[in-house]
Amino acid sequence: MNLFTVNIVTPDGIIYDHQARFLLAKTQAGDLGILANHAPLVAPLLIEAVRIDRFTDEGQTNLASDWVAVNGGIMEVRDNVVSIIANSAETEQDIDISRAERAKKRAEEKIARAKAERDATVDLDRAEVALHRALNRLKVANKRR
Ligand code: ATP
Repeated sequence: MNLFTVNIVTPDGIIYDHQARFLLAKTQAGDLGILANHAPLVAPLLIEAVRIDRFTDEGQTNLASDWVAVNGGIMEVRDNVVSIIANSAETEQDIDISRAERAKKRAEEKIARAKAERDATVDLDRAEVALHRALNRLKVANKRR
């Protein structure tokens, strides 16, 4: 068997559950590609896009890539199942682009204020992480077929 299961779970529920041929994730230690029968592992993920290649037909001839904006979290590989657990994650179809653009603008304004005015009431680290989430969502939404 050359397929494996991919589950992506957040506090909102299961946001992705499919049989896949290949998965590409960005871990804190670098890019990680997964094929069927991969050795067990647990890895912390970055706020990044996860790519999942899966067959779109019964005959397994047409491969297509799904993209999911995964906002950190943990990936576990075991028994031909890849489980990703994150605080938030959205598939390319579920991303609200205008919301992500608003979040990007808010975060950029906070970062600018914190830097220019040395405004101690603005948490620079949080604003930078929020900006990263918004940019990740916009990147994944742009992959929409
Ligand atoms: P915002 O400031 O727009 O709320 P955020 O980065 O603070 O963005 P999160 O805390 O990561 O949002 O997520 C809260 C919930 O909102 C999650 O269910 C997440 O999937 C969803 N969400 C956040 N931004 C978007 C978006 N642009 N499109 C679709 N769902 C989103």
